[in-house]
Amino acid sequence: MPVNCEPLRKILELEHKKGYTDSAVFGGLDRFLGNWANQAITSITEPKLLLRFHRLRLADSNYASLSMEQRQEWVSKVLSFLPQLKRPEGKGDKAKVVLKVSRPASRAKRPPAKQSLDSPITIIKGISQGIATKLNKLGVSTVRDLLYFFPNRHLDYSQVKSISQLAEGNEETIIAHVWQARQVTLGGRRSTEVIVGDDTGNVRAVWFNNPYLVKQLATNKQVVLSGRVGLFQGRPVFQSPEWEILDDKELVHTGRLVPIYPLTQGLRPRQLRKLMKGVVDQWAGSLADFLPPELRERLKLLELPQALSQAHFPEDDDLKARARLRLAFDELILLQLGVLSKKRNWQQSPPAHPFTVKTTVLETFLKTLPFELTAAQHRVLSEILADLAKPQPMCRLLQGEVGSGKTVVATAALLMAAAGGHQGAFMAPTEILAEQHFGNICHFLSRSGHRETEEDYLHSYSGLLARPLTVALLIGDIKEAQKLELQQHIQAGEIDIVIGTHALIQKGVAFKQLALAVVDEQHRFGVSQRSALRQKGHNPHVLVMTATPIPRTLALTLYGDLDLSVIDELPPGRQLIKTKWLKPQQRQSAYAFLRRQVAAGRQAFIICPLVEESEVIQARAATAEYEHLSHEVFPELRLGLLHGRMSAVEKDEVMRRFRSGRLDILVSTPVVEVGIDVANAAVMLVESADRFGLSQLHQFRGRVGRGSEQSYCMFLAENPSEVGMERLDIIERVQDGFELAEEDLRLRGPGEFFGTRQSGLPDLKMAKLSDVALLELARNEATRLFSQDPGLKKPEHQPLAKELGRVWPQSAEWS
Ligand code: ADP
Ligand code: MG
Repeated sequence: MPVNCEPLRKILELEHKKGYTDSAVFGGLDRFLGNWANQAITSITEPKLLLRFHRLRLADSNYASLSMEQRQEWVSKVLSFLPQLKRPEGKGDKAKVVLKVSRPASRAKRPPAKQSLDSPITIIKGISQGIATKLNKLGVSTVRDLLYFFPNRHLDYSQVKSISQLAEGNEETIIAHVWQARQVTLGGRRSTEVIVGDDTGNVRAVWFNNPYLVKQLATNKQVVLSGRVGLFQGRPVFQSPEWEILDDKELVHTGRLVPIYPLTQGLRPRQLRKLMKGVVDQWAGSLADFLPPELRERLKLLELPQALSQAHFPEDDDLKARARLRLAFDELILLQLGVLSKKRNWQQSPPAHPFTVKTTVLETFLKTLPFELTAAQHRVLSEILADLAKPQPMCRLLQGEVGSGKTVVATAALLMAAAGGHQGAFMAPTEILAEQHFGNICHFLSRSGHRETEEDYLHSYSGLLARPLTVALLIGDIKEAQKLELQQHIQAGEIDIVIGTHALIQKGVAFKQLALAVVDEQHRFGVSQRSALRQKGHNPHVLVMTATPIPRTLALTLYGDLDLSVIDELPPGRQLIKTKWLKPQQRQSAYAFLRRQVAAGRQAFIICPLVEESEVIQARAATAEYEHLSHEVFPELRLGLLHGRMSAVEKDEVMRRFRSGRLDILVSTPVVEVGIDVANAAVMLVESADRFGLSQLHQFRGRVGRGSEQSYCMFLAENPSEVGMERLDIIERVQDGFELAEEDLRLRGPGEFFGTRQSGLPDLKMAKLSDVALLELARNEATRLFSQDPGLKKPEHQPLAKELGRVWPQSAEWS
């Protein structure tokens, strides 16, 4: 029967908190201990455990007479012993014992005065320049880095068996005496062989190709061996096990949860582990716990030094889990605080251009649209307009399912900027999309105003504002002379709304007064590009739009500097898109289906197989596919080709023909993924669909179903992997973008989900972005801290402010 250790544990922890003043229980600890131990001892049957129990002198303690330091040492010993008592002793498992590994805190060596956590690792004994260079390659240059250089995993060597219990094939640990050690030749290699024994028997251990161990494993030494048990001539044998001499030092390589560090060429696992043990013992204690004590206690988090040492050399699984929790929480709360403070800085910066919303202009615009805005569009538009009227610059993330109508909302906002005499910019990730936005915006505007001039890249409309409203398209592909001309107009403030690609954030582009920047498809742009666009104006309002639905918590974490708006409703009349995952042998019937749809007046997309990231190769493959389809499969139909290597003029020409119904099928590389909008397109066929992520597949599907006709989406997969099949199965079942995003996140993990790693965000080593509960907790705590003490100026928040300055050096206000 397990012993109830809780009362004792609680009391000892209290004693620790009270500074070892023997005040945790009324009447003193000794009396309490005596009673507790006399009860506990009756439940312990296992001899080794009993021995340890006696050694701790719980039954006849003399705590009262110990010095402060001795008390501390003793309490920590008992605390680390207690978890073993709690484990029920299994049947036939009698000799099982857990080796205790904790080192009392008071024995930890203190680092020399002049050295600090930020000293280079070469100050550590045992780290030569050579080793330092190798560690540097792993991103470890200071002592602090080393403390945060965590093992990938742990091997559980904590359960000690007797030799008679060893089972072949298992990872086992024994404590035994060396009876004999000698050099032998095994397979032509000089090796070490030892025979060790305990009360229950003997066993052989061999280390191939390592004759030098003989000296260390001398006869009569007591050793701990941990490793897989093999069989040799019918008898168990340890082959190259981890080994350690049992002395009064703490075990590092055996008999415990043993850390496995990321390996680096030229650093032996044993060497690195020993080194880490030394570093953790010597330095973990000097880390200041930066979490406010109130918070740490309320959330029952481990103290930082303990969390660090337990993350490396845990005493048991439970402490290891608690250590990881504490460290993950640290990362997330620092991330949250950093993001929140960025937002605060940004909003405190000198005011942008406050807009007065010209209601008449807005009303005219909305009235002349070919449709009514949905309720969600109305709501989001008023959120945006309210932001624009404020003296702080807006920073808002607009999420909306593909086809939910984000563009028209952005257009209304851009129009308001123009109406107020300011400039607006709209940045799209590809030229095709920029052109499409330009086309759409011009189309909307032409319904409410009169087209005055229409050059290729520059339109102007009268009737809406007191002066003509000019809209320009700036993409990399236009002629140099024209580009220069556009740039001059932009600089002179003669263009109200500029739509473009990255070309917008290039050097030559300067706005006279950019007041609103809209960024479409945020996930395609890094944080740096977003801020580059911001730099083009004097604190412009920023609206970021994305059709990749990001689960809310995650959005709040990664884009926590942005306010969130969601269009959670599709325009009326949209139908569910019938989705089917097709097997290779169904290709012909897919083609037949496509033919019938075209005969019925619909149009179709065919997305080419994903070949490589290179646009050149992608384009070549698409061209080949196009040739094949137009000559051999659909010779009677009108096919067009779209890929990233075509000039803007060519692309535009193809898109125009497709949109106006002069093409039946558009064969395209995955560039068509986002944004392209053709109402009559009712069929989407995606080749090698198993190679795309869920969000991407969903984007493809979003290209159809824009009109009122029933639309279809077919996914072809030649030889899908297991994950590929899982994705296809999900996309077939699920239409909701948010639900898909959650699934995608689950399948791919956040790193891949967001494409390249988010620049500008601190590293997450322990935390997982998929851990929603912890994310939420960290966010709540960060918000709470900020509301209580916005500048983290209170004395109890100083360490936190300092740590924040360290991990987010760019926000200077913390340091
Ligand atoms: P996305 O959010 O994917 O960028 P778009 O802005 O491209 O969506 O809009 C998709 C299509 O729906 C466009 O053709 C657009 O004109 C149309 N649309 C937008 N809002 C509405 C609405 N309220 N009612 C009907 N159609 C709309
Ligand atoms: Mg769009």
